[in-house]
Amino acid sequence: MVSKKIAQALAGSSVIRAMFNEGKEMAARYGAENVYDFSLGNPATPAPESVNRSIKEIVDEMDPLELHGYMSNSGYEDVRRAMAENLNRRFQTSFDAHNIIMTVGAAGGLNIIFKTLLDPEDEVIVFAPYFGEYKSYAANFDARIVEVEPDFASFQPDLEKFTGKITAKTKIVLVNTPNNPTGVVYTEETLQEMAEILRKKEQEFKTDIYLVSDEPYRELVYDDVKEIFLTKYYHNTIVGYSFSKSLSLPGERIGYVAVPDEVADAENVIAGLEVSNRTLGFVNAPSLIQKAVSRCVDEKTDIAFYDKNRKLLYEGLIKLGFTCIYPQGAFYLWMKSPDKDEERFVQAAKKYHIIMVKGAAFACPGYVRLAYCVSPQMIEKSMSGFEELAKEYGL
Ligand code: PLP
Repeated sequence: MVSKKIAQALAGSSVIRAMFNEGKEMAARYGAENVYDFSLGNPATPAPESVNRSIKEIVDEMDPLELHGYMSNSGYEDVRRAMAENLNRRFQTSFDAHNIIMTVGAAGGLNIIFKTLLDPEDEVIVFAPYFGEYKSYAANFDARIVEVEPDFASFQPDLEKFTGKITAKTKIVLVNTPNNPTGVVYTEETLQEMAEILRKKEQEFKTDIYLVSDEPYRELVYDDVKEIFLTKYYHNTIVGYSFSKSLSLPGERIGYVAVPDEVADAENVIAGLEVSNRTLGFVNAPSLIQKAVSRCVDEKTDIAFYDKNRKLLYEGLIKLGFTCIYPQGAFYLWMKSPDKDEERFVQAAKKYHIIMVKGAAFACPGYVRLAYCVSPQMIEKSMSGFEELAKEYGL
């Protein structure tokens, strides 16, 4: 018999993965070129050529005992220094190697942050709609997820509702900008105001509230939107980063956590993250890819590729009468379901071989998510199906 916790997890197993598998089945039945699968956030542009080149050079150049051996649980010192210097250059921070812990992607990073900070029953505030895995990560440490309903006009965090949700048990406020699933980038005003609210609540409750910024999409911004780094707004900010999307390396499992010295109890937090990397069984982030990303840290994925897809999909759907949130970052489009029951809408779309994810998977029913990290040809071909779908709903 599996544990009660796992039995529960299995019952609520990832909707996105289920959709992805369904897409594979449909592809086998109708031919991959006739299925329009917008379900998964798997990058659609290859990693920059310099990543592969660096891997080959590192394998040829480095002492294998050092390259493949155990190391500090935080990662190689020179790699952490390279991450710190990159952030300092871009965001005027003053990090050193000791502020950086290399992690097994953003997921590994969030889990070590949660393990380090959370006691059972502590509260983690999240803003709906949000990446569903946050729930599993909180459950790993018996913490409670507290959801804040969205502002349906803008999908910026609703700060009034947020203020009402903060309690003496709030330990973490988890934000994600650019956002999965909405594609929204938090505005300067949102971040300033959120910081002000947190400062006041820390004083009111005499507690430390950590703002945890989950930033796997940091570089994926469009139009004139600037890349932002959240530590400048609020003293108690910890950043989790990943190269999964920015360098198209999700299978390599590489990212980092950055902890500024001004964070409450910073020394213990950093030591706790290091221990958590070990005791959660990651031990350290994979060595070869640590070295590779440190050589490619100034590189970026092909933003123009995603931008083109973004415009194709957004403009195509708007023209057909669908209501979508204009995405300024990440590679997701958030669309209002024309059916009150978005699950029924998702099912209806399958008739036209279109696969999308229901909003309920992100704690926000009534909407659907379309991941446009696909080929532009697929988006173009999918439009006749969307047209049929729009007709079916009388748009
Ligand atoms: N956070 C968000 C918002 C994500 O969308 C994802 C992956 O899609 C992750 C975290 C996990 O990223 P990683 O693959 O780096 O663990």
